[in-house]
Amino acid sequence: MSSEKTGSSEKTGSQAKHIVLTSHPARFGVKPISIQWGEADPLVRGAIVGTLTNAAQRNVIGSHSGAYGVYRALAVASGQLQSDHRADLTNTSPAALLGPHPAWSDPEKIVSLDPFGAIVGEVYQPLYEQGYDIRPTIAITKAHINMPELQEAAAKGRLKIDGTIMKANGDLVVTKAAIEPVWYLPGLAKRLAVSESTLRRALFEQTGGMFPELVTRPDLRVFLPPIGGMTVYIVGDVAAITDPDRELAVRIHDECNGSDVFGSDICTCRPYLVHGIEGCIQTAQAGGAGVIVYFRKEGRALGEVTKFLVYNARKRQEGGDRADAYFARTECVAGVQDMRFQELMPDVLHWLGITRIDRLISMSNMKFDAITKSGITVVERVPIPADLIPADAQVEIEAKKAAGYYTEGQVPTEAILAAVKGRDLSD
Ligand SMILES: [Zn+2]
Repeated sequence: MSSEKTGSSEKTGSQAKHIVLTSHPARFGVKPISIQWGEADPLVRGAIVGTLTNAAQRNVIGSHSGAYGVYRALAVASGQLQSDHRADLTNTSPAALLGPHPAWSDPEKIVSLDPFGAIVGEVYQPLYEQGYDIRPTIAITKAHINMPELQEAAAKGRLKIDGTIMKANGDLVVTKAAIEPVWYLPGLAKRLAVSESTLRRALFEQTGGMFPELVTRPDLRVFLPPIGGMTVYIVGDVAAITDPDRELAVRIHDECNGSDVFGSDICTCRPYLVHGIEGCIQTAQAGGAGVIVYFRKEGRALGEVTKFLVYNARKRQEGGDRADAYFARTECVAGVQDMRFQELMPDVLHWLGITRIDRLISMSNMKFDAITKSGITVVERVPIPADLIPADAQVEIEAKKAAGYYTEGQVPTEAILAAVKGRDLSD
């Protein structure tokens, strides 16, 4: 490998040695931008540059697009994609403006996404002119969505066809934002109450050594992790989200492909998601706004293979699938009951400028604790109505109530838990 680089002559010897690992001759004579996480002025904070077209510009570990970076590698390897392709961002700017909000310049309120990620094209215009390849990590657009349950709610009079939020054909008008994770490692370590070096070493080792810079480049403090991000769906006027005089409904939903998309009856995910959307529409139609955040944390962030293994273990155990063994079976297979790390979840709420949630449509004590601990007030918690719980999901819901999930009813006793049974695999 050549150590010859254009435009990096000011580097110290030790930095130059690191650069050699990944660099190729720079096309532009520009240096990596320093990142001052938590600065209010985006130009002082510094642009996140994860480009692969010019290694000398990079100031992060990892690459854009999360897990899809691996597909990009396949496209390059097979010759379908030029490795030096630069995105043409014409007309891609946000369809609605969100922020800036005070939390954007609090280095501890937001550590797992880039608050300026949607507006890089605007705020870093001078840097583009200098040749920097800066990609948005957030995209904001508008859409009409249509779900049969919402049509049913409108037919039953629970939702109004008002022509603006809900159209005559049942379409729901939403503003939506897709967000890729951008991790500020010192802030993330602090949030998880571990040392930064412990965090870096675990990330390095548990990805099979995928990102050596985690342990070789302590000067690079931002990591674009190869994981799924989140999508925000906003119902109603976006300005209502931060207006103290208007109400806000929020559901934080973690992906469950089996139920959300395919309607599996083993859990309450899709019914609760739809109930959350309904609550958002009702709040928006009363003059407020509703926010659904959809996280790609399939199967409590254990993945679908683990999830299906657990389903089998639950249904084949002695005595069959029952609420009193619900969490134990997950722990047997995965080693833990849950890997979602709700400590990072409130970042997106702070990015939206949320300081008060009037209706939190969730029973999860972990989500409630994370949200309130981060400084957001929760006025009311909304459980899933009993008539929306599928028969085979009674095991899940009773186990969760016993484990501390919010309920307005009775917390099930040991005897009740042991009696709540699910279907057999053979049925
Ligand atoms: Zn589910």
